[in-house]
Parts: sequence; C-alpha cells; structure tokens
Amino acid sequence: MRIGVLALQGAFIEHIHILRGLGVEAVEVRLPEHLDRLDGLIIPGGESTTIGKLAVQYGLLEPIRDMASAGKAIWGTCAGLILLARKLSGPRGKGADPPLLELMDITVARNAFGRQVDSFEVDLAIPALDAVSSPAEAGRPFHAVFIRAPRIEVVGPEIEVLARLDEGPVVAARQDHLLTTAFHPELTTDTRFHRYFLALAG
Ligand code: GLN
Repeated sequence: MRIGVLALQGAFIEHIHILRGLGVEAVEVRLPEHLDRLDGLIIPGGESTTIGKLAVQYGLLEPIRDMASAGKAIWGTCAGLILLARKLSGPRGKGADPPLLELMDITVARNAFGRQVDSFEVDLAIPALDAVSSPAEAGRPFHAVFIRAPRIEVVGPEIEVLARLDEGPVVAARQDHLLTTAFHPELTTDTRFHRYFLALAG
C-alpha cells in the first residue's frame, strides 16, 4: 500500500510518521507526478487558503480530482476537510477563500468555533471505528484535537455522518471512498482513524 500526503504546508509530517509506523509506504506529494501509483491521498491540516493556492500553482487540483474519479481514497483533516468541500458558508474575508476541490457534498464554515475556544480537545464516540478496532480498543471514545477547526454545516444525501460534537455539528464524515475529519488524529497516538482510512484505500 502506497499513500501520499499533500506536503505543501501544515501538519503533513505527522501523518507520514503514523503511516510509516503502520508499515505503509508514505510519500510526500508536492507535484502532480508524485500522485502516480498511489492507493490514497491525505490532505493535512494547516491553512487552507495557503494549501489551496499552492495546489493551484503546482497544478495539483485537477489530478487530485482525477484520483477521486478513479475511486482512490482521499482523506482531508481540518484544512483538508475545507478543501474537499463543495461549498463554504459563514463570514469570511474578501479574497481569502481557498480554491475548493468540490469533491464532497458538504457545506463547511471555517474557524467555526469562535476565538476563545478556537482550540480544544474532546472525547468523541465514533462507532464506525469499531470496524478497525482491536478488542481492547472497541467502543473506546476517540480523543479529538480541534485547532481553529472548521465545522460541517450541511451534508448531502450521499454523506455518512461518522461523528458529531455534543450531538450537534458534524465533525467527521464519509462519502464512499472520501473521508473527512474536522480534528487532527495525526496529533494523537490513536491510529484507528488512519487504519479506517487504509481500509478505504485497500
Ligand atoms: N483554520 C484553518 C483554515 O481555515 C484550518 C485549521 C487547521 O487545519 N488546523 O484553513
């Protein structure tokens, strides 16, 4: 299994370390040719306007869309979630909107949790992870780290909701082979989300 991690800006090295720890070949993606022969791609957290603009500059948006059409798994964490979205909502500055891949049928608000609590950690119940859990892990909540996180405000009919915050906003979702989390599993030692993604890629 060969997984690419978009390495333009943000928390890409943490994903690479976890993937390698799981025995997966992990490659940094900066140019379209780095997408060749991948089984899946992770778009990391960071600053979505920066990542999006660099992705346009390096000609990566179309090849990533082609990967999705070819049925390859793609996972966006935080800023990556924003880039996967079809639409943005909520207040935002002029000219600061990132270009979107428009692959997932979700509407997303950036920096949606307010200034005082723009970073926080919470334990989430995510029953879908049971599919990749060891007996010791089964049913255990997932410790989710949110950093100036986006929130999914509207989900289309093809979206499977994987987790909500306090039974409210959607913070993890799947659309077929596309996966998205508003939080950062790569900043914890719990590898269940990475294993869940590898199962989608395999
Ligand atoms: N606030 C960032 C953005 O809107 C996302 C934050 C993150 O990826 N941790 O791009």
